[in-house]
Amino acid sequence: MMHFWGVRGSIPTPGSETARYGGNTSCISLSLDETHTLVLDAGSGLRVLGQQTFAKPHVFYFLLSHVHWDHIQGFPFFRPIMDPDVKIIFLNDEGATVSDAVLGQMDGVRFPITRNELKANIVCGSQDYQSAFDLFGVTCTEVNMLHEGACFGFRVTRDDGDWVYMTDNELPADVQSDEMHRLVDFTSSADVLIHDA
Ligand SMILES: [Zn+2]
Repeated sequence: MMHFWGVRGSIPTPGSETARYGGNTSCISLSLDETHTLVLDAGSGLRVLGQQTFAKPHVFYFLLSHVHWDHIQGFPFFRPIMDPDVKIIFLNDEGATVSDAVLGQMDGVRFPITRNELKANIVCGSQDYQSAFDLFGVTCTEVNMLHEGACFGFRVTRDDGDWVYMTDNELPADVQSDEMHRLVDFTSSADVLIHDA
């Protein structure tokens, strides 16, 4: 079951006008089993996810589309980062560029708690993340998207269906272009497409 904790872009937007879908920035979770959760993006919705009750010890796999602020700003407020019974694994994190951006917010200047003070076991630099999901009968593939800097869309396949997550994707004006076909092919026959452009 996927859960949407934040669906806004750019900046959290509280208020009556966003009450229906919430005002938090990007964060979606997918429970893999009772003690393993996949988290797509770490916007301010992640704070709300962190307020839930989890079976422990718990592993959170983080898969980030990209590291623009609205996709990482929830991490310092994610309560499980202070829990020693929690493991956080950054996936698709070649060269630790993703985890460095996320944890770099916590430098003691821009945020009072530093990455070295976190109690959770945080694993950075994972590249071959598919093996992490084999246990759960899940496959996950990625696609490069059209957005400033590196940005990825993901397709998660389980026996209950195919979910495609593509956020901040700047679709080409020419719908017949190779780029458009490449992106459309990636979503082909998916059961659920989560797309924001
Ligand atoms: Zn962005």
